[in-house]
Amino acid sequence: MLKRNLAKISWCKLRMRYYHQENLAPKQKSEKHDVTKIRNIGIMAHIDAGKTTTTERMLYYSGSIGAMGEVHHGNTVTDYMEQERQRGITIVSAAVTFNWKDFRFNLIDTPGHIDFTMGVEQTLGVLDGCVVILDSSAGVEAQTITVWRQADRYNIPRIVYANKMDRADANFDMCLESIESKFNATTFPLQLPLKEQSELVGIVDLLTLEKITFDKEVRGAKVRREKLNEKNGGYIWEKAKEMRRILTDKLSSNDDELANLIIEKESLDDISGQMIVNSVRKNTIAGKGVPVLLGSSYKNIGVQPLMDAVILYLPSPNLQKNADIYKCFANNFSARAFKILHDKQRGPITFFRVYTGKLSKGQKLYNVQQRKTEQVGRLYAAYADDYDEIAEVTEGNIGGIGGLKHTVTGDLLTSNSNVANNAKRNLENLKNIDNAIKEKFFAPTDIPDPVFFCSIEPPSMSYQTALDIALAELQKEDPSLRVTLNEETGQTVLGGMGELHIEIIKERIKTEYKIDADLGPLQIAYKETITKPIKENYVSQHKIANTVQNVNVTMSLIPDYQNKEILTFDRTKESASNLANIHPKVMTAVKKGVDIALAHGPKLGFTVIGVGVKLHWLEVQRGTVESMISSAVAQCIRKMLQNAGLVLMEPIMQLEVVMPEQYSSRVLSDMGKRRAQIQEVTIRGQNKVVRALVPLSELLGYATTLRIITSGNGTFSSEFYNYQMMGPLEEQEAIRKVTGV
Ligand code: GDP
Ligand code: MG
Repeated sequence: MLKRNLAKISWCKLRMRYYHQENLAPKQKSEKHDVTKIRNIGIMAHIDAGKTTTTERMLYYSGSIGAMGEVHHGNTVTDYMEQERQRGITIVSAAVTFNWKDFRFNLIDTPGHIDFTMGVEQTLGVLDGCVVILDSSAGVEAQTITVWRQADRYNIPRIVYANKMDRADANFDMCLESIESKFNATTFPLQLPLKEQSELVGIVDLLTLEKITFDKEVRGAKVRREKLNEKNGGYIWEKAKEMRRILTDKLSSNDDELANLIIEKESLDDISGQMIVNSVRKNTIAGKGVPVLLGSSYKNIGVQPLMDAVILYLPSPNLQKNADIYKCFANNFSARAFKILHDKQRGPITFFRVYTGKLSKGQKLYNVQQRKTEQVGRLYAAYADDYDEIAEVTEGNIGGIGGLKHTVTGDLLTSNSNVANNAKRNLENLKNIDNAIKEKFFAPTDIPDPVFFCSIEPPSMSYQTALDIALAELQKEDPSLRVTLNEETGQTVLGGMGELHIEIIKERIKTEYKIDADLGPLQIAYKETITKPIKENYVSQHKIANTVQNVNVTMSLIPDYQNKEILTFDRTKESASNLANIHPKVMTAVKKGVDIALAHGPKLGFTVIGVGVKLHWLEVQRGTVESMISSAVAQCIRKMLQNAGLVLMEPIMQLEVVMPEQYSSRVLSDMGKRRAQIQEVTIRGQNKVVRALVPLSELLGYATTLRIITSGNGTFSSEFYNYQMMGPLEEQEAIRKVTGV
């Protein structure tokens, strides 16, 4: 009985709040540095869904910019790099800070193109929530799937925004359906489109049962809310009530409080908007479902409710589960560097997110991965292409540091090495955190292997130093760019994640560094592997000065090897007793020999993968130098590689092509010429979608081909899938291309 009364009292309070507020948009006053008033969010979308357009509106309505840019005019704030303006796509993550209703938004514009997923992943680690933008005429597209899965991996709560609802072929129900079927996710649709003569004129808010319209005269800056009723709503009023009931019911299945209230009231209609807000928030943060909103950013409809939703449904930094691990730093400063940009006047600016403590101007910091102490120069709050100098960056916030020399994207930062060591110890005792995550925490960031490479040369020798500096800076910004020196030819070699990736790097060297560098043809990063097992004994005898350097080694190679530990040891009795006596220094030399031999295979010098090395026997004459041991081991392995049916492996890409029906037969027959393994052909709205596995070598210049055969109506995205062995004919062709004979 008492319980029931209590429930009643709190319900009354809630109801009062509900009726006092004209709408549910947040209005609280904030205190300085209140971590609950921060939202670190990313915006993710398939290319062209409207990420840049939406961001631009957010900045405009929050008062951060006086004029609104448009993508097709090339004057948007977040697409600030020159080649982005030219291409009208967003490549580099730019952090943008602004205030909305007393909340501080740190908006991180994640790269959309698949070649830059490295950037997406690094950014994801520092986000507390994200907004996934869909093109409502297309629903869930290829890249949405990729980013969704990445967000799943990092447990990032998300809101979906169905953009382009002004289009005649837009379909909100199809969007909901595609989210549910593609991701097996529960949707919480919070709005309905409001149409007049099939034109989008506003939005129906299901929680408040209001019509929301946006004043065209002021580019949507004035928002009008009006209660819906039978008279002014008619059919849409009925539909909204029905949708609200369905939503309430859906929410209650993961929310006991709501479920009890429904039982008590014996109705789905008497639930307050505030109660639904609370439930949507709980459900969203717990990853039980995704709120779905709609709008047309281009027509200035729906952006402010979307920003309100970010406050209402996405977590503040202190509620983010991924931040728990940083508790090992207690109240000391800890942060993660997630982006480095090189500003013309300010030099490198390292973007970082503070997890615990705070960082002040003039302080020293310690980089855990690089084991270096660095001086903090200036601190900045970032407004896309403009910066404000600030005195400190507090817990949960995002800022930029000027002048760091050693820090690379992905590094963990703290105040000094003692704090780092204490944190390492504390981490072991932290409960509820996966051991795998603990292990990775203090380790260097995983960087995917490049699938493409090409040589790069300065226009003349006098530019060599400038080019080296440019590449070093670019690499700090983007660790997925690999820069190596080919010792045989003396050429600098770039490795990248895709054709566009390398093309963009080249353009940036040209436009930002003013170096007209020469890039060699794009080459594919093949790998080498063996097809059969082999065992070999190798004896090396050398005389250096007066010492005899003898090594006698027996090893075997294992094909189709998947384990992480490449080098293993023969455990049979005889071998084990021989190997037990190996001195640790000698063992280090053996490991080095293995690494050397596998770094460059004997076929074309590509890395050897999928091969295990087993050591059976090792005798080393006393006084033999370590380099002789490494060399003998490497020679032994090389000899075996040559005799174990060495073949090339090629990178295979997962490809998704979307095109209007009438082009599908041409696309499919073209794929037939590209050694594609078609996985599925499905229908999405008016389009056909083909998913296939295709060798990377067959995809060179595919963008152009696809544009031609679909008259510009087809789009594709691709992602590295795995390495597969090549047939003899393809191998010959590859060898011919690589060696030029
Ligand atoms: P991004 O690639 O995700 O950053 O997408 P953009 O913001 O660059 O938008 C891609 C194209 O779609 C541009 O031509 C925009 O003008 C257009 N666009 C963006 N939002 C809308 C919208 O709400 N409705 C319509 N019809 N077009 C839009
Ligand atoms: Mg964009």
